[in-house]
Amino acid sequence: MSEESATVTHPFLDLAPLGADRFAAIEDRVARLLSTEQDVVIMQGEALLPLEGAIRAAAGPGTTALNVITGPYGQTFGDWLRDCGATVVDLAVPFHTAVTAEQIRQAFAEHPEIDFVSLVHAEAATGNTNPVAEIGEVVRAHGALFYLDAVASVGAEPVLPDAWGVDLCVIGAQKAMGGPAGVSAVSVSERAWARMAANPRAPRRSYLSLLDWKERWIDGGRKALLHAPAQLEMLALEACVERIEAEGPDAVMARHASAAAATRAGAVALGGGVEPYVYEARDAAPVATTLRAPSGAVAAELVARALQADPAVPLAAGGGALAKEMIRVNHYGADATPGAVRASLAALGTALSEAGMSVDVAGALRAAEEAWR
Ligand SMILES: *Cc1c(COP(=O)(O)O)cnc(C)c1O
Repeated sequence: MSEESATVTHPFLDLAPLGADRFAAIEDRVARLLSTEQDVVIMQGEALLPLEGAIRAAAGPGTTALNVITGPYGQTFGDWLRDCGATVVDLAVPFHTAVTAEQIRQAFAEHPEIDFVSLVHAEAATGNTNPVAEIGEVVRAHGALFYLDAVASVGAEPVLPDAWGVDLCVIGAQKAMGGPAGVSAVSVSERAWARMAANPRAPRRSYLSLLDWKERWIDGGRKALLHAPAQLEMLALEACVERIEAEGPDAVMARHASAAAATRAGAVALGGGVEPYVYEARDAAPVATTLRAPSGAVAAELVARALQADPAVPLAAGGGALAKEMIRVNHYGADATPGAVRASLAALGTALSEAGMSVDVAGALRAAEEAWR
């Protein structure tokens, strides 16, 4: 074999190393997407990496954390907080609703020692979204550090850490941004850096460590990276931010809001015993719409039938115990379109009628189209 033919070229392979300048430029671009002046640290892993890293850095035995649970991620955060030695006050609200700023205010009144608040903005897993702007005002007035999981909201609805007083705001590329799952970012306020620096148990010299990025990357003027960056994920992150900028963030968010409104209206008109899982439309997340399966039917079985009818639709059953009762329409990213919503409703209609329910698919498609505007 000649030397030229020994290596077959491939777009994913033989990538040049990604340099510090490019890495910093991508961080700046993510910061602009979040309209934040805070430091943005990109982390080379799925969003659980900065989600866990931020909690372990900012919370310790001296912390009293208010952990808001509106879905499965809130449960995970509570586990990490306890593992760090924090005292945890759980505020669990039913998955079919959202938490209110008033509930947060009451929790502060009952436990004035709270100095950390963890909250999930939107939950793709349960389909709800929480009023972060209002909650942020209450948290700021109390003075607690504010940690937010915005993985499922970024790209689908506004995420504004500075305006809302969020100290640690974690995003991932894999939902409404339409990017890969292997890269994520966190914006960090000066207050949050100070809290971490004062925490002797914060991870240091560790892949989980945010402080390593502060001390060795940011404080050094972002000249030397801590390790070889994951080029594919970084390039994909850059590409998905670029694509959002090109379409316009407002247009991308409007598409997600329309997809949610259309799916909700379509599901109501479909009948067959399907109902929106989140009771009030204002509590429903733009990123994904959850539906309650008709009584007597199993959500996971309906979803399997629907996927048989049309394997391309973004339908999934709820995770874990929710697999019996919850159908998820994951109309995010490339699926935040009228076509994906129509196809989802039609496939769901087929599944329901096969299971013996009476449905109005034509009415559902009409209602979805009207709700899309
Ligand atoms: C999707 C999502 C994540 C990321 O977790 P995955 O297990 O990779 O899906 C984190 N937080 C929230 C709220 C999410 O919706």
